[in-house]
Amino acid sequence: MGSVTKIPLVLVDRLQRPVRDLRISVTDRCNFRCTYCMPKEIFGRDYQFLSRDLLLTFEEITRLARIFVDRGVRKIRLTGGEPLLRKGITELIAMLAEIPGVEDLTLTTNGSLLARKAEALAAAGLDRVTVSLDSLDDEVFMAMNDVGFPVARVLEGIEAAAAAGLTPVKVNMVVKRGVNDGSIEDMAEHFRGSGHILRFIEYMDVGNTNGWRLDDVVPAKEIVERIDAVFPIEPVEANYVGEVAQRWRYKDGAGEIGVIASVTQAFCATCTRARLSAEGSLYTCLFATRGTDLRALLRSGASDEEIGETIDAVWASRADRYSEIRSSNTVGLPKVEMSYIGG
Ligand code: SF4
Repeated sequence: MGSVTKIPLVLVDRLQRPVRDLRISVTDRCNFRCTYCMPKEIFGRDYQFLSRDLLLTFEEITRLARIFVDRGVRKIRLTGGEPLLRKGITELIAMLAEIPGVEDLTLTTNGSLLARKAEALAAAGLDRVTVSLDSLDDEVFMAMNDVGFPVARVLEGIEAAAAAGLTPVKVNMVVKRGVNDGSIEDMAEHFRGSGHILRFIEYMDVGNTNGWRLDDVVPAKEIVERIDAVFPIEPVEANYVGEVAQRWRYKDGAGEIGVIASVTQAFCATCTRARLSAEGSLYTCLFATRGTDLRALLRSGASDEEIGETIDAVWASRADRYSEIRSSNTVGLPKVEMSYIGG
């Protein structure tokens, strides 16, 4: 009897957007306290992080990932908090890498542990990494990560990742006016010709703890103009529908950069991202106010079909487009924290 070829379900939401990308947070903990994501005042010594029994196990994560792949997911991104803090993360990567249909298995990290782990991550089956780095200026960077972590060690991690073949390495810089916008041109100069893809991210009103103000946002248009003034650039076609970053390349061939303009040029119309929290709740938007508990189903003996039906129902009723409707009325909504569901 030949093997049954699984025909992926074509699952679309109310805006006809398929589910193509699954972002999986594997921990809500982080060793940084970036002021725009996990400010120390809130996430201090007494903050109650999720206990181990509340976290999805690797088997549970892999089972859910399979069910999502059956529904069209092709890209899986591991996030946190800081995913490299999750013990045994390479085992999970090896399990996810075995799922037929996963075309892109990637991970977003603050780079603090990357130099030590890059080779093991690649050997486990990870395809590439995205590393957050908000400035090359130690004083600025240390103030932003708020734990005094030096730039040099993140740069070491980036080079170790490239050497291990986790390429292209993407480098994410969140730009906040009056904090690190002075680093834009330096970052561009440093990563030009390196083969790494630097992306500038507009500062966002994620969660409820970073005191976001529109005045602190440096619009993508301004970032592009500033880069173009020193290193002429031109726009490049997206790699695929739903790609988050707008692509630009240096006219002199020194590579490309990206700009992620969630505030000034919303891209919700093509958003194909589902997010899973470390404790197994499904969120359909980075700015969601509530999720759907899949862990309860996993731990109550539900079948794959039953879990799949729940995912189908959630996605089919999805109409999120927060960045398109962002206003002074939405900023204060009880949004989920980014450190809880990953960027
Ligand atoms: S705001 Fe929500 S719907 Fe819009 S692009 Fe971001 S995650 Fe997608």
